[in-house]
Amino acid sequence: SLGLSELDPEVAAAVGAELDRQRSTLEMIASENFAPRAVLEAQGSVLTNKYAEGYPGRRYYGGCEHVDVIEQLAIDRAKKLYGASFANVQPHSGAQANAAAMSALLKPGDTIMGLDLAHGGHLTHGMRINFSGRLYNVVPYRLRDEDHRVDMDEVARLAGETRPQLIIAGWSAYPRRLDFAWFREIADEVGAYLMVDMAHFAGLVAAGLHPNPVPHAHVVTTTTHKTLGGPRGGVILSRDEEFTKKFDSAVFPGQQGGPLEHVIAGKAVLFKIAATEEFADRQRRTLTGARILAGRLLAEDTAKAGVRLVSGGTDVHLVLVDLRDSELNGRQAEDRLHEIGITVNRNAVPNDPLPPMVTSGLRIGTPALAARGFGEEEFAEVADIIAQALLPGFDDAAGESLRRRVAALAAAHPLYPNLNGGF
Ligand code: PLP
Repeated sequence: SLGLSELDPEVAAAVGAELDRQRSTLEMIASENFAPRAVLEAQGSVLTNKYAEGYPGRRYYGGCEHVDVIEQLAIDRAKKLYGASFANVQPHSGAQANAAAMSALLKPGDTIMGLDLAHGGHLTHGMRINFSGRLYNVVPYRLRDEDHRVDMDEVARLAGETRPQLIIAGWSAYPRRLDFAWFREIADEVGAYLMVDMAHFAGLVAAGLHPNPVPHAHVVTTTTHKTLGGPRGGVILSRDEEFTKKFDSAVFPGQQGGPLEHVIAGKAVLFKIAATEEFADRQRRTLTGARILAGRLLAEDTAKAGVRLVSGGTDVHLVLVDLRDSELNGRQAEDRLHEIGITVNRNAVPNDPLPPMVTSGLRIGTPALAARGFGEEEFAEVADIIAQALLPGFDDAAGESLRRRVAALAAAHPLYPNLNGGF
């Protein structure tokens, strides 16, 4: 049978062009990463053909003896990595993992508390037209004005007043750590469950560089493709034996049909990689890179140009740039960086005066560049390029010179040297 380039040259050409884009630009979208070749291979394998409704040893289809081995490896490795006694590796995505975990613990109409989307929360933490906002009564908590930290006194006050059934701790755009023990204390006081969504920082946790939420939460959800850098997908973890059957049946048959065993194989490979020293080193460089970027953006020239950082810095793999006092809005800044070959996303800052399609901020992350091998020197160079691009007086000549510096960094760190056309 024909390969992709023979059978469908149009799709093959676009895949090849995407590989070129990834190779020639610098990827700094905080939720993105580069999956290792072994993960790409697992995902592109014949496992894609297999139906396997159910769980290892308890399937509704024949011929599952090999996918059982693979899924059990993924479960065992995930449990070991995070010190959990339960793992479900079937959620097709982070949103599916959250939907399943919430449906296991809640009934429609129950009250949930989550970080407001406009302050760094995720859609699934209670956004109005997301399933979470439609099914549940949402009480959002927000960041404190003075220091842009989650205001735990406010969380405690709101929880006491509204008696939620679930409190969600987790974020998509927040440059600091959360206090899981404090969240649990508040949840216990009001009789709520605590769910931690560690989608963004799960790689840092695996490397021991960020507190592990598993001992504190009733349930922890994650994606496997952000700091973890594996296949696109979700996972549910818990240490609470009481709920494990509920989580399994909430995923299948509650939310999903057949599991994606090719993706689950990628998750198994990822969890093997995530237990290595090489992975820990990559996560250390991720954090160092974010700190270097924060330091550069806080320097005198950028500060004078009105470039600020939400919360004044970072403890994680991203910085949130606040452009309200600068001459650029989020969209203009995103476009300018795109022009010189750096990919980021515009992002609302707390109390943003501009609409979500424009915004006054940028979210910039370092995981993908760390995966490409960047260390202190390269992060210092890319941080300076970004700072220069955000300064007033940017013109064609400046753009050309920055574009050359970006191209040099990309060329010095080849991506997927063994892949041909994206395969
Ligand atoms: N949870 C958090 C905190 C996220 O940031 C995201 C993705 O942006 C998700 C869940 C959803 O993951 P997915 O895009 O795989 O559905």
